[in-house]
Amino acid sequence: MSILVVGSVALDTIETPSGRVEEVLGGSAAYFAVAASYFAPVRVVAVIGDDFPAHERAMLSSPNIDLAGLEVRKGRTFRWTGRYHEDMNIRDTLDLQLNVFADFAPVLPARYRDTPFVFLGNINPGLQGGVLDQLTQPRLVACDTISHWIEWARPELETLLRRVEIVVINDEETRMLGRERNIVRAARNILALGPRTLLVKRGEYGVLLFSPNSVFAVPAYPLEEVFDPTGAGDSFAGGFLGYLAQSGDLSEAGFRKAIVYGSVVASFVVEDFGLRRFRSLSREEIDRRYRQFVALTEF
Ligand code: AMP
Repeated sequence: MSILVVGSVALDTIETPSGRVEEVLGGSAAYFAVAASYFAPVRVVAVIGDDFPAHERAMLSSPNIDLAGLEVRKGRTFRWTGRYHEDMNIRDTLDLQLNVFADFAPVLPARYRDTPFVFLGNINPGLQGGVLDQLTQPRLVACDTISHWIEWARPELETLLRRVEIVVINDEETRMLGRERNIVRAARNILALGPRTLLVKRGEYGVLLFSPNSVFAVPAYPLEEVFDPTGAGDSFAGGFLGYLAQSGDLSEAGFRKAIVYGSVVASFVVEDFGLRRFRSLSREEIDRRYRQFVALTEF
């Protein structure tokens, strides 16, 4: 079954202790789409400028990625520059130029409207809701958000959360949204806003799932070297929803497997800069690391 993603497609400049890359393909929708495409067909809704280099766009094209909803506008593409500290859980945003992304108003191509699985990447919660309005009958809707919207658009965000089954955010966003320092209590407050499931991304510490009746924890796959953590969260979400769309298993057990698949895909993307690792990554490698992951956590 197919998945719709709405979010940013960007040109990223990234500096980590391992090196630097300039103006490479990035953005939440790009990481999500490529990660999810290992499992199911993906439909992208995003905007780029007419300056977007063809070779960067080519990294997005695959038989499993539909780019009919990738609008090309006159003007400059959204650009983001980030620098990671020695502790790569910490990063500074050095520059952010919205450019054509500033007036992004997602319009779905007609054939996207019946998409069953939906990922609302980090954009204005009002626009995330506008995307839901254009869908006929989504089966499963997940969303991301960032501290900016929690701080400046809480009423719109709370309205959206009543229409969403799964929220995928990091630990700091969980504390802000749940208005609690303690993650477990914050999670309970977020579930009271409407979603059935909360997934908390904790970087190299892994992922926590909260639902009304359970808590489930998965570590990050232990890697000897991390080159670039950018997009790990969106790649996690792509692997997670991708597996659910492929298996159709929306039980608690299905969610747990999907979390492990999401963690595996994220563990690959950080092994190189930007989306580069995906160029050589095969589905067989993903399944092999999935089995190693199961062995790692079995006792
Ligand atoms: P993550 O590492 O999962 O936070 O994702 C990083 C990606 O998010 C980068 O590729 C950026 O281009 C993109 N990004 C950064 N800030 C924003 C923003 N305010 N809105 C949309 N996308 C953003």
